Amino acid sequence: DQTWYQQVIHLVPDSDRIRSFIIDITERKRVQEQLKRQNQYLAALNATTIGLMSRLDINELLQDIVTRAGQLLGTSHGFIFLLDSGQDELQQKVGVGSFEDTIGTCIKRGEGVSGKVWETGKPLNVLDYNTWENRASKYDAFEIAAVAAAPLMSGGQFIGTIGMAYSAESGKIFGDTEMELLKRFAELASLALDNAWLFAEAQEARKTAEAANEAKSAFLANMSHEIRTPMNAIIGMTSLLIDTHLDREQRDYVETVRQSGEALLTIINDILDFSKIEADRLELEYQAFNLRECMENALDLLAPTAANKGLDLAYMIDRDTPEAIKGDVTRLRQIFVNLLSNAVKFTETGEVVLSVSTEQLSSPAPSSGSEAKMLHFIVKDTGIGIPEDRMNRLFQSFSQVDASTTRRFGGTGLGLAISKRLSEMMGGSMWVESKLGEGSVFHFTIQAEAAPAPARAYLDEIQPALQAQRVLIVD
Ligand code: ADP
Repeated sequence: DQTWYQQVIHLVPDSDRIRSFIIDITERKRVQEQLKRQNQYLAALNATTIGLMSRLDINELLQDIVTRAGQLLGTSHGFIFLLDSGQDELQQKVGVGSFEDTIGTCIKRGEGVSGKVWETGKPLNVLDYNTWENRASKYDAFEIAAVAAAPLMSGGQFIGTIGMAYSAESGKIFGDTEMELLKRFAELASLALDNAWLFAEAQEARKTAEAANEAKSAFLANMSHEIRTPMNAIIGMTSLLIDTHLDREQRDYVETVRQSGEALLTIINDILDFSKIEADRLELEYQAFNLRECMENALDLLAPTAANKGLDLAYMIDRDTPEAIKGDVTRLRQIFVNLLSNAVKFTETGEVVLSVSTEQLSSPAPSSGSEAKMLHFIVKDTGIGIPEDRMNRLFQSFSQVDASTTRRFGGTGLGLAISKRLSEMMGGSMWVESKLGEGSVFHFTIQAEAAPAPARAYLDEIQPALQAQRVLIVD
């Protein structure tokens, strides 16, 4: 176009008006084109950097950065150098095109294009690398000609370089616009790198914390035997001691030792159970047992306390419930005891009722076979109830509704957390309904398979001991 204007001007040499008019148009056109090109570059920059921020894996991100920079500048040759941990060398982390075979190469400060960028902290444009006096020996004999690199920065500190190159045969060089684009791109890439590093650090910190937590749980789970054995000896020996000749005062002391030992063992058991569950070390038994017996055993344990408080303690078993089931009798009883002792603990008047009903499973768990049923247990009390806003925290470990209840009622705040986890391990769940001042209803379910069970004597319809007797029933 320029030559065309010049020819026109040449043809009409003395027309100053036309000359200035044409120059004016040329200038306007030039500015317009520059704007258009800038917009195109900005759009390209945008398009290539979008998505960079969401890449959180460092290696993938580095690779992505080089690929995108290549798209932006129209070349398939590029590299990224990062400072090593000792900060005394740059190492090539990524390379594409001609730089693919040199990944891992280290260079010193001031050496080659990246070493120079490190030294000056500024972008560098080398028009012909092969005749450049500062080229790094490791990057000799390349088919590339023009090389440009820009610094990658983090928190104002130099951390590496990103560079692009054109092959000799392409004949291309990096102009001002390309250099500006590379510099901008390097700034955005630095942000994306910072982002990914922060994420990696957070991940690492989380992993360390989790590992420490697991190690602690594993330690406790391993220690459980060591802690329980002497406690059992203390309780067993004091029980034997009570049966020897003691005066009243001595008997009092020994009784206190035994009671405290039992209380301590309960707490220790809770903590150890919880650690075992946390460390994934708890295994459930799978054996046939009588469900009614299991429920009665749990109720027997609570009966003295309930009687002392004047509470009614009862149970109800739905007709369809299997007499015997397969599962872990000890752990199921543990859930009953936990829920029942809470119910008795937090109830002053009224009753505590344990009941069970059976629901057919819509899709039985594969391990439990086709006859698996969902047993739904309910422990209902007429006690103090639980405030609405505290209900969601109830099943968290170490949490109690009201810190002051710890002193009044004792407890570790682990019972419910353990019970819920146990019921989940048995293929069910646990939840609660409650009204403050009216009482609480704890529900839990488990999946279980019915087991064949011999009928028990008290279920016989005819009770010979009661035949021809009058019976008074008082409720
Ligand atoms: P703890 O060993 O403290 O009893 P739990 O996990 O068994 O631990 O119970 C946690 C808290 O939940 C109790 O401290 C109590 O505040 C509340 N809670 C549990 N069961 C009942 C209940 N039946 N009625 C009222 N509050 C209850």
